Amino acid sequence: MQKGNIGVTTENIFPVIKKFLYSDHEIFLRELVSNAVDATQKLKTLISMGECQEEAGDLTIHVSLGKDTITVSDRGLGLTAEEIDKYINHIAFWGENYFLDKYKNDANAIIGHFGLGFYSAFMVAKKVEIITKSYKEGAQAVKWTCDGSPEFTIEECDKADRGTDIVLYVDDDCKEFLEEPRISSLLSKYCRFLPVPIAFGKKKEWKDGKQVETEEDNIINDTMPLWTRKPSELKDEDYKKFYRDLYPMSDEPLFWIHLNVDYPFHLTGILYFPKVKSNIELNRNKIQLYCNQVYVTDSVEGIVPDFLTLLHGVLDSPDIPLNVSRSYLQSDSNVKKISTYITKKVSDRLQSIFKNDRKQFEEKWNDLKIFIDYGMLTQEDFYDRAKDFALLTDTDGKFYTFEEYKTLIKDNQTDKDGTLIYLYANNKDEQYSYIEAAKNKGYNVLLMDDQLDIAVVSMLEQKFEKVRFTRVDSDTLDNLIAKEDKKGDEVQAHDREVLSTMFKSQLPKTDKTEFYVMAQSLGENALPVMITQSEYMRRMKEMANIQAGMSFYGDMPNMFNLVLNADHKLVKGVLTDEEQACVSDVAPVQQEMDEVNTRRDALKKSHEGKKDEEIPTAEKDELTDLNKKWDELKAKKDAIYTDYASKNPVIKQLIDLALLQNGMLKGEALDKFVKRSIDLIK
Ligand code: ADP
Repeated sequence: MQKGNIGVTTENIFPVIKKFLYSDHEIFLRELVSNAVDATQKLKTLISMGECQEEAGDLTIHVSLGKDTITVSDRGLGLTAEEIDKYINHIAFWGENYFLDKYKNDANAIIGHFGLGFYSAFMVAKKVEIITKSYKEGAQAVKWTCDGSPEFTIEECDKADRGTDIVLYVDDDCKEFLEEPRISSLLSKYCRFLPVPIAFGKKKEWKDGKQVETEEDNIINDTMPLWTRKPSELKDEDYKKFYRDLYPMSDEPLFWIHLNVDYPFHLTGILYFPKVKSNIELNRNKIQLYCNQVYVTDSVEGIVPDFLTLLHGVLDSPDIPLNVSRSYLQSDSNVKKISTYITKKVSDRLQSIFKNDRKQFEEKWNDLKIFIDYGMLTQEDFYDRAKDFALLTDTDGKFYTFEEYKTLIKDNQTDKDGTLIYLYANNKDEQYSYIEAAKNKGYNVLLMDDQLDIAVVSMLEQKFEKVRFTRVDSDTLDNLIAKEDKKGDEVQAHDREVLSTMFKSQLPKTDKTEFYVMAQSLGENALPVMITQSEYMRRMKEMANIQAGMSFYGDMPNMFNLVLNADHKLVKGVLTDEEQACVSDVAPVQQEMDEVNTRRDALKKSHEGKKDEEIPTAEKDELTDLNKKWDELKAKKDAIYTDYASKNPVIKQLIDLALLQNGMLKGEALDKFVKRSIDLIK
């Protein structure tokens, strides 16, 4: 028997392994099973090259549980005593401090970086044995034992068969790994697609109401997962089945891409376009990353562009460095190439579906939209490709490419300054009447009702030249797309003032909502009253809701315009009625106001060109008094209008109808409206 010390420069590596790899210690199984797979693959290669005369025989790897042991057995190439000494006893190690500082939180990094694969066994075992016999002719079987201190023993032993058994004597605090379901789930997580059959126990079947073991090995893996096979041999159903196997709870995918590159890097895999439900975050990071069929992680962040983390499926590449930090990953040249390659493949695929089967593309657009929009918003090179197949949808459900849409609206929706105006709605029901009005005028209205559309609108405004997006309810129809400078038939100042005073006085007071009342001449056939909200103000508030640091806008009240159509019969009627009802009260006040004004104007005129000190104090005082007087009279006049307005059911009814049309009539105001309406039709 030989004794020795494992060649580590630190005093004792095992406590370090245990302590710092604690969170991830389940990966020991992955490491041991993939070592067994490697040994098996190497043997196959030797046989195929004629360097090994042995029969391969059954190469199944067995994972088995004893009372306090886990054993991984392979029939691979085995190890000689010299090889154990070379590969197992001497681990290259750097100083402990370096090790701790650098890799504190990342078990994968330590294990890969230091070739610690085998030693990860000590994360769960207090003692490990390697019982192995090399494929080499006349090789002597040997048993290596180590109890977790740097000391090991190595001795000759009996072993009939070629290959290696790794026996772990499981630590008391790791007993969970002796439970069958735990190992079973670890095997299916890490070893599900390894290229050599792996058996864990025997297949079970139901007999007389009980589960009994059969003679047959329970093979836990698929040695030829779909991505390793030739696309030409595969049918749609195969891809769909594989997707169901990977994500049993998900809807059928929209379509998929089978990746297969050998140069300048190795990459295989299948990416699926899932049906992305409303919540982006829930759909993120479902791509599984493999390295030669060994499961590594399901977080491909940093390896593919952000928007592609919405895809599902598997990527398998030995060229992605696994043992480095995520930030380093992004600067790795292979990772960059892989990322660019995948982006290109994805856009090519979308482009080809768009070209060859536009109908299918449109049918799937609602599911694809979020993904493509997200890509365009975050990835410049994706925008450049996607701009040819990304679609806009109008409120009638028709689809257009950016170019098609531009051609569609060019003639009719260019304003007097040559800016192309894109009209949109974000709620077909709430903005129904605005949409209808715009359509009746021959405009087209886009539907932008998706969670990313606020951002998409801003993006497109920046990308397109001389283009502005404005929501259908952001202004009156004539002003949405201003075709010519204002006509002469403006509403008279007097009418404007009276109307706005009366209507403003009757608007229900709502918290955080303010109205600016104005009268315009919108034509006899337009609605008597409508509510608009400035595009700019609304967008600021919307952005504030999604962006930090803009809370100023978020706190501002919602500002709306209540636009009265002075051409409409009902509004005209209100004015004539008011005139009749108020004239006797208003006339004397107005007369006084006119007098005040005349005197005020005269004084001001006489002061023109004079310096302040040249104006007599008495005149200054008179002016102050006149201003005060004027304010009082104005308040008095407004009170007359307000009093009248409060008794005029038409004013209230018109206001409420406008509010109702915008879903803003609620609570007491709604109740009053209903009662008043009943009174009006009684
Ligand atoms: P790595 O696999 O990264 O080289 P490990 O610590 O896992 O590092 O293994 C060290 C070496 O031990 C391997 O390179 C291999 O030569 C040998 N080895 C480990 N497990 C086996 C096995 N089951 N059969 C044959 N050789 C093995």
